[in-house]
Amino acid sequence: MLPFFRRTLSAVLALGAAIALSPRLVHADDSAVGVSLAISPAHLANGSPCLITVGLHEEASTVTGKLQGHPVLFFSGTDHRRWFAIAGIDVETAPGNYPLAIDATLSDGTHRTLHQDIAVEEAPYEKVPLSVPDRFVEPNAAALKKIAADKIVKDKAFADSASKPAWTGNFLPPLHLAPQSDSFGNQRMFNGKLASVHRGLDYRAKPSTPVAAINSGRVVLAQPLYYEGGCVVIDHGLGLMSVYMHLSKIQVTVGRKVRRGQVIALSGATGRVTGPHLHLGVRWQGSYLDPAKLFQISVPKTSVASQNP
Ligand SMILES: [Zn+2]
Repeated sequence: MLPFFRRTLSAVLALGAAIALSPRLVHADDSAVGVSLAISPAHLANGSPCLITVGLHEEASTVTGKLQGHPVLFFSGTDHRRWFAIAGIDVETAPGNYPLAIDATLSDGTHRTLHQDIAVEEAPYEKVPLSVPDRFVEPNAAALKKIAADKIVKDKAFADSASKPAWTGNFLPPLHLAPQSDSFGNQRMFNGKLASVHRGLDYRAKPSTPVAAINSGRVVLAQPLYYEGGCVVIDHGLGLMSVYMHLSKIQVTVGRKVRRGQVIALSGATGRVTGPHLHLGVRWQGSYLDPAKLFQISVPKTSVASQNP
């Protein structure tokens, strides 16, 4: 072959190789450059809430994520280079590694993406036998009808969460009492028959103890339900809600905005209970998280919420 043709051919081959390889290389190299990820606490177990922090070299207009199929909704710091999300691992998640995907859209429309496996350890939750009236273990036809109607009410309340964070600072306990230790995550045997995982934290509050909102938000449910008794649900935005059960008196109505620490109800012993107490649930994108661990998270100041779908 003549030197000229050999040079031309090798140039063409090199160009072809560059064309074939460059999109993959550019994606792998460039898209992850300038993205950092931090998760607090460092060790997660089933039931753990967490704060995810994404750091970028450039300003982003939106940051979205996905964890175990749940959308992770971010809000920005003041400069749009640091973005935060409160997320978590459902109490019934098996230990293992779960993928977290992050996608940041920069001001110029390009994307930065990051994929990381999140290790989930096994939390040491106990099995606890409990006794409740039989009507809560084997509900009759009328009760089943009420339970089905309750489900519609709850599904509607849980369906939509505000696109901006309504919380102001850290989440605070709903009353000045130590919670019943390790009540979150217990596997409960009701009358030796029915097993269910306890998806909240119990406080042994005397009846009529004032119950405060754990953070600011909007009331999306406020009525008596069969199992829950007097029940209030507050939407804090970005998929995060708090649930208060067994209340004797509800002092808010659906649609009302409440401030962190505002009294929303009085505690009681309504619904499926073994005695007077407040049950507090924390729900993130359908997952139930340990409220006590949420109170330990230092929540960054909110600025602008990501325009998430
Ligand atoms: Zn409970």
